[in-house]
Amino acid sequence: MRFYNTLGRRFEEFKPLNDGYAGMYTCGPTVYNYAHIGNFRAYLFEDLLRRSLEFHNYKVKQVMNLTDVDDKTIRDSRAANLSLNDFTKKYKEAFFEDLATLRIEKAEVYPEATTHIAEMIEMIRTLFEKGYAYKSEDGSVYFSINKFKDYGQLAKIDRSQQRDGVRISTDEYEKDSVGDFALWKAWDEKDGDVKWDSPWGPGRPGWHIECSAMSQKYLGKTFDLHTGGIDNMFPHHEDEIAQSEAANECKFVNYWLHCEHLTVDNKKMSKSLGNFYTLRDLMAKGYTGAEVRWALMGTHYRSKLNFNLSLLDQARVNLRSFASLFSRLKGLDNGDAGKADAENLSAKALQDFGDALGDDLNIAEALSAVFKLQKAANTALAAKAWQLDAGKVVLETFRKFNTVLGSLDMDAEEESIPAEIMELAEKRQAARKAKDFAMADALRDELKSKGYVIEDTPAGMKVKKI
Ligand code: AMP
Ligand code: ZN
Repeated sequence: MRFYNTLGRRFEEFKPLNDGYAGMYTCGPTVYNYAHIGNFRAYLFEDLLRRSLEFHNYKVKQVMNLTDVDDKTIRDSRAANLSLNDFTKKYKEAFFEDLATLRIEKAEVYPEATTHIAEMIEMIRTLFEKGYAYKSEDGSVYFSINKFKDYGQLAKIDRSQQRDGVRISTDEYEKDSVGDFALWKAWDEKDGDVKWDSPWGPGRPGWHIECSAMSQKYLGKTFDLHTGGIDNMFPHHEDEIAQSEAANECKFVNYWLHCEHLTVDNKKMSKSLGNFYTLRDLMAKGYTGAEVRWALMGTHYRSKLNFNLSLLDQARVNLRSFASLFSRLKGLDNGDAGKADAENLSAKALQDFGDALGDDLNIAEALSAVFKLQKAANTALAAKAWQLDAGKVVLETFRKFNTVLGSLDMDAEEESIPAEIMELAEKRQAARKAKDFAMADALRDELKSKGYVIEDTPAGMKVKKI
């Protein structure tokens, strides 16, 4: 496999530290609100990465942190008059529900910041010992970026422009205010009862130290892959590198992958701009998790994706066309006609699919292999060239695609028809038998208005959803 490594801005062959294993840290949500689908684009990209590694036979250990203490969680828990834990609990639960709706594979570990304060304090202590950390007048502790000569390597920061002695206390800031960042924030009234003891007095950790301390705990001082949305690159990931490499005196991460933004009218989807949909908004409009997944995954992770609802409508069309193919493949007559053909087509499709994913997650090429197989199968079915054995081979291939794509419903049973509808259908059959065609037509129209049609087949009546 090869990936585009943001560190160095070039494609590199993936060589994990341990053969056959991939260690991966993915910056998780700040649990102060429902995640929006821009956030989920990042988590879906990470899911695609994880599943593609698995498709290529790697065993993945993924760690995703939950930021349950930071400027925003404190601010909003106080506004809601709730303890920090009570406040964040609701959004943690919602986050896991949303991951399940989107069929995102679970990470191996979801460490929470509030239960890893000791590890963060330990790391800050090391940074003090090694001369990278200092305490400011208000009791907060800062990382001195001048002491770390490689600062700026990831975000490509021009250090010559840098003003000395600038200190930034907020978790998020722009490149033009690059400066010393907070490792430990001294308690003040705005924090309410959110505080932990430390060698530097009561306070709470900065956001960046959280990921340095927790990645080290679960993945080691050096690990393979670190990902996030492109907006995480600076300052968050730059600061993580500085902290970890200064404390541990070894390389932090070998491959950095960043996904581009989901946009609306070409502006980043974000809470602050208010131009966002949550997953729940889309469910309320009748879309499914599988459709949202398909729509957000279909564009290469390093390209911007401009969101609108027609993407979801298109996803629905695609997914239904697959479902229709699966049901026809399952319904073929017994026999092995076309089996060799199906095997050849499948082998080629799987090879192309895997190669494409291995090439920096080239999803367009991977999907093109899927669509080609779909088309070939549809053609073979139209020509009545295949029997059940061939159908099984192709279904098995789609199952393998789906270990990565995740949106296909391979095992969907035909939808069950409500009893009330079946009753109307039976009445219509009876009316027809009695040659009461006016009544039969009226019942047919009633069924239609409820969203069902009756098909007369040689095996009898069949009721279907429109
Ligand atoms: P946050 O909760 O703001 O820390 O964001 C969680 C993740 O979502 C991070 O990896 C962000 O980079 C990512 N993210 C936020 N907004 C977007 C967006 N509009 N498109 C893609 N990723 C995003
Ligand atoms: Zn992080």
